[in-house]
Amino acid sequence: MIYNNRIAIVTGASGGIGGAVARKLCEDGFDTVLHYNSSEDSVRTLENELKQKGYRVMTAKADVSKSSEVNDMIEYIAKNFGSPYLLVNNAGIAQQKLFTFITDEDWNKMIGVNLTGVFNMSRAVMPFMVHRKQGVIINIASMWGEVGASCEVHYSASKSGVIGMTKALAKEVAPSGIRVNCVSPGAVDTEMMSSFSAEDIAALCEEIPLGRLGKPEEVAYAVSFLASDRASYITGQTLSVCGGMTI
Ligand code: NAP
Repeated sequence: MIYNNRIAIVTGASGGIGGAVARKLCEDGFDTVLHYNSSEDSVRTLENELKQKGYRVMTAKADVSKSSEVNDMIEYIAKNFGSPYLLVNNAGIAQQKLFTFITDEDWNKMIGVNLTGVFNMSRAVMPFMVHRKQGVIINIASMWGEVGASCEVHYSASKSGVIGMTKALAKEVAPSGIRVNCVSPGAVDTEMMSSFSAEDIAALCEEIPLGRLGKPEEVAYAVSFLASDRASYITGQTLSVCGGMTI
């Protein structure tokens, strides 16, 4: 499905899943903002690749946990690139720790990026979507937000919060023609999995019904569908892309 003049913003496009999502949305015809925070080299490489293919893209930087940075970024995007139609809240962090070892700082950072970040971004784009009476928000949650992970209580709580926020916001903005959904990945082969040893990954794969890690592109296909007009009657839902882990 090809769209012209539809602006998408992908947070964390400098990372594994965000990069794959940005590539797919460009193929779908979205003019795409490639957001990053610290990994400027990665996002510039992606920007060059997509520009060479003839796609209209721009990069934008913000720490999503800071509302002032997010508000300034969205204002800049709206003025210089166009009014956002699609927001993919993908930026996120992970950490494995025993519950009693989680510090105040760990907790606040996790909630700040993974949950407050989704709030900050969604609130900043909302006036543009309400004004046009159309828009789509897709939040990248996690299977651990659905079923909970041992040694990832703060991560699981942040992602459960994202799923709850998605349902509530979907109800509130549906009358304005705006859809809000989650894509909930399982274990996907990106930098985020780099702290796992080969043995850990092999053990994890034994628990996954489809027997392997997911690929970032497989998450991107789900985002592409929910962003499309084919999903026009779907809102407030969580689409799991987890190889069957949450069955
Ligand atoms: P990744 O490769 O580590 O990418 C993470 C992205 O988040 C990076 O682009 C990073 O930007 C951005 N980010 C981190 N902190 C930020 C902040 N304070 N402000 C703005 N951006 C920030 O991880 P990934 O695997 O692609 O993960 C993407 C999303 O999928 C996350 O929400 C994650 O929780 C979710 N997810 C991943 C898996 C998995 O197995 N990989 C499973 C379930 C869910 P910079 O590098 O530019 O700072």
